[in-house]
Amino acid sequence: MSESNRQWILKKRPEGAVRDSDIVLETGAIPKPAEGEIVIRTLWLSLDPANRAWMNETPTYMDPVPVGGPMYGLAMGEVVESASDRFSLGDRVVGLGRWAEYAAVPADAFQPLPDMPGIPGRDVFGVFYLVGPTAYFGIHDICEPRAGETVVVSGAAGAVGSIAGQLAKAAGARVIGIAGGEQKCGWVTDNYGIDGAIDYKNEDVGERLDALCPEGVDCFFDNVGGSILDEVLGRMNNFGRVAQCGAISMYNADAPQPGPYNYLNIVVRRIKIQGFIVLDHIDRYPEAYEHMAGLRSQGKLNWKLEEDEGIESLLSAFRKLFSGENAGKMMVRVAA
Ligand code: NDP
Repeated sequence: MSESNRQWILKKRPEGAVRDSDIVLETGAIPKPAEGEIVIRTLWLSLDPANRAWMNETPTYMDPVPVGGPMYGLAMGEVVESASDRFSLGDRVVGLGRWAEYAAVPADAFQPLPDMPGIPGRDVFGVFYLVGPTAYFGIHDICEPRAGETVVVSGAAGAVGSIAGQLAKAAGARVIGIAGGEQKCGWVTDNYGIDGAIDYKNEDVGERLDALCPEGVDCFFDNVGGSILDEVLGRMNNFGRVAQCGAISMYNADAPQPGPYNYLNIVVRRIKIQGFIVLDHIDRYPEAYEHMAGLRSQGKLNWKLEEDEGIESLLSAFRKLFSGENAGKMMVRVAA
């Protein structure tokens, strides 16, 4: 075991996009566990757009990361010290860890890494642990697509969006994905079997929605918010459903953002819009895992991982989520 611990410390709450001086890599001692805690050696860290919101002063569905402390992140780790009877040395666990090589964390905030036959642990952590259930609950509990309906997914080449599109497709819907760039649109149709793709960076989203969804939109799984949400809202059918999963276009904003201009259409078209947080459904994750594993075994579920190496690459990996440089689920391998 190493003698020291490198960790990313939140020095200052960012205004707008994260600057190099907001979060800094420092070296310290490996922490000791307090009663009820475990010390994990971090193997993988998941980079999630929501990490940006956790850096703010305003609480989200969890308390903000304290300034002066290590940044939080979803982690897969190995227990190297335990002051809890929940886990033993060597156990592989997943939960809310730290952007750190070693972290002392409450044992009851961690679960064993799910065992998924035939799927490597890294994919289980990256795709099944959080991303897959997010897509599953948004599509099946909120969008509830029926065969023949038209579903639109934004962020469609990304981690959550690519799974959401495939789940809607497996439910019998016609699915249109929105993503940035020709290459990503190619993955949406070719890798993920989606019926059509709109390149929001180079095409007129409204015109392309009119062309690809001539009978309107029944369900929208939205990851990005902003003007894309507005364009889709304006084309929803009566009794349409919107699963508001995220709004990444707003996460780096340093001033309040306007709401959708097509707001009145919610009334006129009797649209149901529901936000959701996947953590509310932890007790139902096995249902999502089983559904996804079933589709995977039938060759109906693909994914991509974007894997960077080393604790020092965390900030650049995180930034890829906002530039769109990530080619799939963004992860960093912290230790072998
Ligand atoms: P992705 O793998 O989709 O990566 C983020 C992608 O967002 C980028 O690759 C980029 O794709 C796109 N993007 C970045 N900036 C913009 C912008 N200004 N406008 C449009 N698209 C943009 O990340 P995740 O799959 O991890 O997360 C997707 C969404 O799901 C996020 O909003 C996240 O907060 C949300 N989420 C919600 C959860 C919940 O419980 N509700 C749980 C987990 C995630 P492109 O190249 O196509 O622009």
